[in-house]
Amino acid sequence: MGARAVRAVICKPFRAVAHAGRPLCAMVLVALGGLAAPPAGAADYSGPLFDAHLHYNQEAWNGQAGPHPPADVLARMQRNGVKAIVANSRPNDGTKALAASPLTRAAGVTVVPFIRLYRNRADYDNWYRDDSIHDMVLAEYARGTAAGPFKGIGEFHLYDSGNANGPVAKKLMAFAEDKGLAVLAHVDDAAIDLLMAHTATGGRKLRLIWAHTGIGGTPVPRVDALFARYPLLMGELSYRPGLTCADGKLCPEWRALVLKYPDRFMIGSDTWVNQRWAAYDELMKGYRTWLGDLPAEVAQRIGWGNGAAVFGLR
Ligand SMILES: [Zn+2]
Repeated sequence: MGARAVRAVICKPFRAVAHAGRPLCAMVLVALGGLAAPPAGAADYSGPLFDAHLHYNQEAWNGQAGPHPPADVLARMQRNGVKAIVANSRPNDGTKALAASPLTRAAGVTVVPFIRLYRNRADYDNWYRDDSIHDMVLAEYARGTAAGPFKGIGEFHLYDSGNANGPVAKKLMAFAEDKGLAVLAHVDDAAIDLLMAHTATGGRKLRLIWAHTGIGGTPVPRVDALFARYPLLMGELSYRPGLTCADGKLCPEWRALVLKYPDRFMIGSDTWVNQRWAAYDELMKGYRTWLGDLPAEVAQRIGWGNGAAVFGLR
């Protein structure tokens, strides 16, 4: 790491967390004039990665201008061994652009497109009760993308878990289970139960990818109980508090949990702001560090195989 490296804090605007008085931040190292890579560990995971939580929002590139046009973000994926992505964006144009670009194919990246519920920032707080968003989701689903049909809905947020009972949230969960669409949900543990309850099977057949797996710090035994209850529930691990300990390796209780459910976890970049694109190399390097400390087969599943299996990639 260079002497000029600075520690940058990228905080997520989680009002749910703020209510609890615990603002949540992720620490990343950003060097002035370039990213400083931490020293490579001998045993870092070196296989392919499936980025299961990627945004390509309009501030990254609006179709004409922005700091991260397709060639830029695809180069970041390519140099980090990211071979597939769950892509979603505010608005959905960014996802469609990546899905349609010949550069994506040339970079060897498979796009798994998700329908974002947000046309703009105001939709974050309103989607669960706004019928125009329900209509938008149905229209996008019918249209699909150049990379094929949409495979999921989200990411969406619930800052108050009670809003999981909003009329549009109910309809969309039933729709997702019915169509076999995955759901990428940034919610707390209480909302997992509420969302699951809206489907015909009580959630047993809803492929819900829990963005961050409890960003407010849901205790590991509670995560374990939810995984036991819902067989298709999966956990995406960006920003998860308490995940890693010394030397960037998994903390003991998380190591035990991923070994208990080796086919239920995935990694993601969560490029929700442009700083996350700037830190993309560091983020992927961080995953490779702790994956390398797991049995090789488990590392392969979490890094790549689980996402590939869920979305039918080879
Ligand atoms: Zn996100």
